[in-house]
Amino acid sequence: MEVLKIGVIGAGQMGNGIAHVCALAGYEILLSDTSQDALDKARGLISKNLDRQLAREKISEVDKQAALGRIKTTLKLPDLGQTDLVIEAATEREAVKAAIFEDLIPHLQPHTLLTSNTSSISITRLASRTDRPEKFMGFHFMNPVPVMQLVELIRGIATNEETFQACYDVVERLGKTSATAEDFPGFIVNRILMPMINEAVYTLYEGVGSVQSIDTSLRLGANHPMGPLELADFIGLDTCLAIMNVLHDGLADTKYRPCPLLTKYVEAGWLGRKTKRGFYDYRGETPVPTR
Ligand code: NAD
Repeated sequence: MEVLKIGVIGAGQMGNGIAHVCALAGYEILLSDTSQDALDKARGLISKNLDRQLAREKISEVDKQAALGRIKTTLKLPDLGQTDLVIEAATEREAVKAAIFEDLIPHLQPHTLLTSNTSSISITRLASRTDRPEKFMGFHFMNPVPVMQLVELIRGIATNEETFQACYDVVERLGKTSATAEDFPGFIVNRILMPMINEAVYTLYEGVGSVQSIDTSLRLGANHPMGPLELADFIGLDTCLAIMNVLHDGLADTKYRPCPLLTKYVEAGWLGRKTKRGFYDYRGETPVPTR
């Protein structure tokens, strides 16, 4: 089947990036959120990020205007029923995602494919609560979406070949590269990345190093482009904690237990860049370590 219209649910950091790259590739986009403020912010951010690509001569002014023209926004989830492919990118909480699919299903066309950008939640379980588990799969973009090349494609136990192929074709049209992962907690990227970030938080918690020494060590000692705590702030500490909880519950191994210090930051509402405070304080000109 050919995908022409894509519905994106959630206009946060991931949703706006997904809308951006899909619109640039020529898809008609309907972006939804429960918050008008999130929709307005997303539109502004997409325009700013397109300007960045324009300045680097990666796209033309015509491309930018055409992409912006293809993005419509809505507060009404049922409007997404008219799309060919839905990419859900709302908050990483299973109850939130399950409720979204439940509300959306009565409005869907029979052919509409459902996908989730979840970082860790079981695709098979999310699919089982819909009317179309064979047309459901994981479509996992990386952050920031316009920059990162990879998309993980995750089949649930019931996903059929047509659905997989249609999603694979979308990734190709976006000019990105897909990697196929089986449906186990965290898939590939987060199964490996999150325990490393969690271990960096333990290293801080136990006083082995400061925020700065931990990040400098991994940047210069392992050639990582960002330190793990910087990266955690970038991803969002609530998302990191949610993924560690999924790994811990789903794999039932204590090696995945979330560091209490990570929980404390989340409880404080210090979620990283998006709230201007996390392992670093972003309220001034340059980020300052908070420990
Ligand atoms: P975010 O907090 O930036 O945005 C989430 C958005 O979802 C918010 O705008 C919120 O208003 C909206 N939302 C909440 N409930 C909703 C509902 N019922 N209907 C519509 N919108 C709703 O989060 P994010 O970082 O964009 O993450 C979104 C998803 O992408 C999560 O599943 C996350 O695991 C996944 N993901 C995140 C990253 C990352 O680095 N942040 C990377 C890959 C995948």
